[in-house]
Amino acid sequence: ARALVWMRRDLRTDDHAALHHALKAARQVWCVFVFDRDILDPLPRADRRVEFIRDSLVGVDAELRALAVSHGVEGAGLIVLHGWPKQAIPELAARLQVQAVYASHDDEPAAQARDAQVRGRLAEAGVMLHTVKDHVVFERSEVLTMSGGAFSVFTPYKNAWLKRCEPYFLSAWPVAKHAGALAPKPENEPGVPTLEDIGFQRTNLHQLRLPSGPAGAEELLTDFLERIDRYGETRDFPAVKGPSYLSTHLRFGTVSVRRLARLAMDRKQASPPAAPDAPRGGADVWLSELIWRDFYHQVLHHHPRVVQQAFKPEYDRIRWEHGKHADDLFAAWCEGRTGYPLVDAAMLQLAQTGYMHNRLRMVVASFLTKDLGLDWRRGEAWFALHLNDFDLAANNGGWQWAASSGCDAQPYFRIFNPVNQSEKFDPQGRFIKRYLPQLAALPDKLIHAPWLARPVDLLAANIELGKHYPLPVVDHAVAREKTLARYAVVKG
Ligand code: FAD
Repeated sequence: ARALVWMRRDLRTDDHAALHHALKAARQVWCVFVFDRDILDPLPRADRRVEFIRDSLVGVDAELRALAVSHGVEGAGLIVLHGWPKQAIPELAARLQVQAVYASHDDEPAAQARDAQVRGRLAEAGVMLHTVKDHVVFERSEVLTMSGGAFSVFTPYKNAWLKRCEPYFLSAWPVAKHAGALAPKPENEPGVPTLEDIGFQRTNLHQLRLPSGPAGAEELLTDFLERIDRYGETRDFPAVKGPSYLSTHLRFGTVSVRRLARLAMDRKQASPPAAPDAPRGGADVWLSELIWRDFYHQVLHHHPRVVQQAFKPEYDRIRWEHGKHADDLFAAWCEGRTGYPLVDAAMLQLAQTGYMHNRLRMVVASFLTKDLGLDWRRGEAWFALHLNDFDLAANNGGWQWAASSGCDAQPYFRIFNPVNQSEKFDPQGRFIKRYLPQLAALPDKLIHAPWLARPVDLLAANIELGKHYPLPVVDHAVAREKTLARYAVVKG
């Protein structure tokens, strides 16, 4: 039998369920990635994610080649197409005369629609599309409440997740053992294109600390494992190297989430807390973040309406600001010109690197919804365009959490004070100064709210507010009252 593995957000060869199943079932196996024009065509021509994927494919191609060579097969490698999967996959399946196509589940609504089309077209030619879980540890309805419903609160979900998580669920799907079935790539099938070939330009990706491909994930993971025990204490401080920075790799599957969860679980068991009331170890806290990721994926699966609507329907009664002034406020937020240094530095981090620290995502999302009074969907869309790690389930979950409309969200009356957040999580303004060097000469205490500085301090720091740095676009105390009034409709 012949089979094709269609890679999408599983760009690796290690611990790969679809590849494992294909290699076990078929005598000849090829792997393909399609640069999907439905996704790519609307994007700006410079997009770090497209470059990250392209570079990662180079790594996957090399891994496939090496795996095949170790079994004496020359000339294997990744086939890379640029087009519409609904055409490209059935056509390739016909050219290679495969009986089956294997792929990993993708539960985003657009991906589901695409896969349904591909499945239908393949079926017309008698080819099966087999899809398997890969992206999360538990998906869909694998973790349910005692009464068989979907969880909508995180902590009980997490407890049920941990209870269900026997070693089997974290064990790897081996590939190397069966790699002798990898078949040489036909000469006329294209390999990894250049960015220019698919109509894109280079970005600053290579200047960032985001090495791509499975090898890049390995590098970041090795570095993180040296720090994981301190994750709990460091993860909230954007100026500190606390988190793993693995989100983009998790998004594109250049690392296996099962492996990460296994590593965290092993580390957690190796270093239990010294006393019952001692703070949780870093690996334990980090494992919870991976479980949040599964949590939001199952929310999207059970409630796909969250893509457009509030999880809690009454929150769609809120009347967000709109019109010219709202548009100006939105532009100030996007461009990092709100006059609140921590918010602005965070938005500049996003623009310049495609990454934003988790604490800052919460701060800027709260600021957009509860200080500017703007619909969370506007912020969600901006993040979707700019985040390297953009993931529909996690992004929607994060935005609805901040807007209080979501599953297990922040209560609506809890409104982050952007100045307090800044004092608490960037006390010396080290993060702020990295992105707003014009504020560098302000003393630590004044950097969080420059408009409160005395003229003499501003003069000493060489800052003219309104010229070198904006005055605040809103007054937090006033905005807070407006927000409480705006959200009052959810009580009725
Ligand atoms: P680490 O702290 O090292 O965490 C490890 C991994 O756990 C992350 O890589 C991520 O896969 C997962 N994770 C961590 N926190 C969360 C969370 N709250 N929800 C779901 N998964 C989590 N994460 C995305 O991957 N894509 C998004 O588009 C995204 N949008 C967000 C939007 C908002 C408004 C908020 C508040 C959070 C969002 N997050 C998103 C979650 C979180 O901010 C990022 O996953 C994290 O900052 C990525 O950095 P890291 O890999 O260093 O994380």
